[in-house]
Amino acid sequence: MGRLAPLLLALFLNHAHHCAFAYTPLSDNSLRHLVASSSPSSSDLGTTDPDLDPAHGALLGPILQPRVPGTPGHAAVQEHFAAFARHHLEPAGWTVEWHNTTAVTPALIDEGGRERVVPFRNLILRRDPPWVTSASSFSSSSSSEKEEGGETGKKRRRGQGDVARLTLAAHYDSLYRPEGFIGAVDSAVPCALLLFVARAIDGALTRRWEAEEKAAGKEDEEMLLLEDEEEPAKGVQILLLDGEEAWVEWSERDSLYGSRALAEAWEDTQYEAGSSFSTPLEAISLFVLLDLLGAPEPNIPSYFPKTHWAYEKLAKLEERLRKLDLLETKPRKPFLAERGQEARRFRGFVQDDHVPFMRRGVNILHIIPTPFPPVWHTMEDDGAHLDAPTIRDWAKIMTAFVAEWMDLEGYLPDVVARSERNVEDTGKGHAEKEEL
Ligand SMILES: [Zn+2]
Repeated sequence: MGRLAPLLLALFLNHAHHCAFAYTPLSDNSLRHLVASSSPSSSDLGTTDPDLDPAHGALLGPILQPRVPGTPGHAAVQEHFAAFARHHLEPAGWTVEWHNTTAVTPALIDEGGRERVVPFRNLILRRDPPWVTSASSFSSSSSSEKEEGGETGKKRRRGQGDVARLTLAAHYDSLYRPEGFIGAVDSAVPCALLLFVARAIDGALTRRWEAEEKAAGKEDEEMLLLEDEEEPAKGVQILLLDGEEAWVEWSERDSLYGSRALAEAWEDTQYEAGSSFSTPLEAISLFVLLDLLGAPEPNIPSYFPKTHWAYEKLAKLEERLRKLDLLETKPRKPFLAERGQEARRFRGFVQDDHVPFMRRGVNILHIIPTPFPPVWHTMEDDGAHLDAPTIRDWAKIMTAFVAEWMDLEGYLPDVVARSERNVEDTGKGHAEKEEL
């Protein structure tokens, strides 16, 4: 992550532009159930979630190694992500896509002054509603149907350009120097959190979409058609970005290798004519970037007036989770302490992977503490300096945020069943049962 930069972009980003689509708050019960399901091995809410444990966690542990682009550690972490996607996401209908690029970096390869050319790979994990995915597979035939005069009135088939995607991002590369640098908060923990969130919401997302398909009736293909005035469907995607770090010194050219290439590629990719969005970039409803998380007592400012409403949603969830006693940490002030406050108009922002997207007009929510954790860019940024309760609390807050965004209220029943079973197993009775 780069240094604090004076904010110039705010000048033109400042026209308040609120997101209009439906957003149903999660009930207290759903919050309880989400938290219970986030801590499968523990009946007392989240004290020993195994996956996010810094020492042995199945999600986090394998990321905690040097992962400089082009090195074996970097490849091992890519394989960790790919294996996670194969086991947990692809069976449920997520797509997995690598976006490859190469760039010249100012790091010298030898005494002769040759600069290092490095391959960078961004990983894109995406889940669109199932009817959209199937529609895209026969989008070519839809044009011939039109030629044959198949008049569909004001409706047309939904395609990939008709999905507004909540976009969750973090970078997985680690700093080139000092040698052996781990980058636990920067950004192994954010990556693990995103994988965690994807898996945590996936079952409810499936149920929600199945219920919608059932309600619409699959026979008449209602779900495949989009009416002219209809809102685009909501999807979710996770970007594990490469090459965020500078190799020698942070500059426009030496930083953000992966995100710059991806933003450019997505700006140049056109969806079918007539789609709700013209490019994948435009289809991003909100770009939520996580960085430098995992240290205790984080202070996350609201950086952008344009998305302060989304910050408020997240802060409200933190407050509700704390009131329900569902978080472990007891910080002096909330992680997201600027709730209810006017977003400051000309606050500086932190140079990070959102910049290439922000410059192209994408809405940004940047979840990064100010000040940075003291271990930032030092050899102390390792697993031993992480605060496990803070990480688990972030997992709960972010899972709740995504569940709310994706309108999952009412679709968390298997979580209820599971937590009930846990309660019975530990002989504590049927406390949850009446809540059904
Ligand atoms: Zn960094």
